[in-house]
Amino acid sequence: MQDLVIVQSKTINNESVPVVFHTVEKTFGGIKDVREISRSYIFQDFKARIPLKLAKILVKQHPEEFSFVKAAGKKPSKEAKQVVDKQLEKQAGFTCEHCNKVCGSKAGLSSHIRANHPEQPTSKGKINNTAKAKASIEQE
Ligand SMILES: [Zn+2]
Repeated sequence: MQDLVIVQSKTINNESVPVVFHTVEKTFGGIKDVREISRSYIFQDFKARIPLKLAKILVKQHPEEFSFVKAAGKKPSKEAKQVVDKQLEKQAGFTCEHCNKVCGSKAGLSSHIRANHPEQPTSKGKINNTAKAKASIEQE
């Protein structure tokens, strides 16, 4: 069974978004056959149900635009849940609370805040808890 996750977009609504990915298949001769495949998904109310594999690609390519909301389906797999949880934690940790810029690391976030919002102190702990609470509500 295919894992589905719900992906949220910041700006795309009632539009389809192509996800381009590569598949590598080994033929019998041991030669790798690389194919570029594109699938389109329609975002409605800024959300779309996308297979986990492709959702990962989409979020990785455009972290500022797309994020995981939750694992879809009645019985989401462990993997799907983990991916979503991990992202929610990461986002909460490394997203600037003042302008929502997503930073790659804790250090990057602190220097971003120092540089861009010098007079606004951080309250990262608060954000973390909010995001975690939100994640657990959405999983129920
Ligand atoms: Zn900022």
